Amino acid sequence: MQCPFCQHTDSRVLESRSAEAGQSVRRRRECLQCNRRFTTYERIEFVPIIVIKRNQDRELFDRSKLLKGVVTACEKTGLIAVQLETLVDDVEAELQQRAVKEVTSTELGESVLTKLKTLSEVAYVRFASVYRQFRGIRDFVDELNQMKESGSDRGHNNRSEHPEEPSMPPTTAYVASHSSQH
Ligand SMILES: [Zn+2]
Repeated sequence: MQCPFCQHTDSRVLESRSAEAGQSVRRRRECLQCNRRFTTYERIEFVPIIVIKRNQDRELFDRSKLLKGVVTACEKTGLIAVQLETLVDDVEAELQQRAVKEVTSTELGESVLTKLKTLSEVAYVRFASVYRQFRGIRDFVDELNQMKESGSDRGHNNRSEHPEEPSMPPTTAYVASHSSQH
């Protein structure tokens, strides 16, 4: 950190403390050349993430909304709240690491599915059933067979899709049908 008085690039930290309600770290520094003191603030770079929905509407990524959807889909699957919170944290962290801060609802749903699969196959199938709007038992069977055949690789579903947006339960607020991508 360059000294604001003499532009020397080395300083020593005299004190670090949390600031702005934990959103930043305030550091009191002393220049190693001129010995004058200055203050720096370190913050996590936060860039809003935009979710592009299937109807091309855009909205801000909302962590609590995604968590609510995942929790609802994973009821009675044996997964505990902290696992689902971690999953959503991982999804969000991955989004923050992307160069482009936009994600389609389809990508978001697939990202959740990929992580759910490692946690619980029951939860995975249940979330997939909501997310991909499976129609009846046939689709469940197809999905289960694909899981068996492909091991860790999930197969794709080539069902035709109704063009209109179906009314969706809260669980699928973000995650729209996958099959329209084909
Ligand atoms: Zn200096």
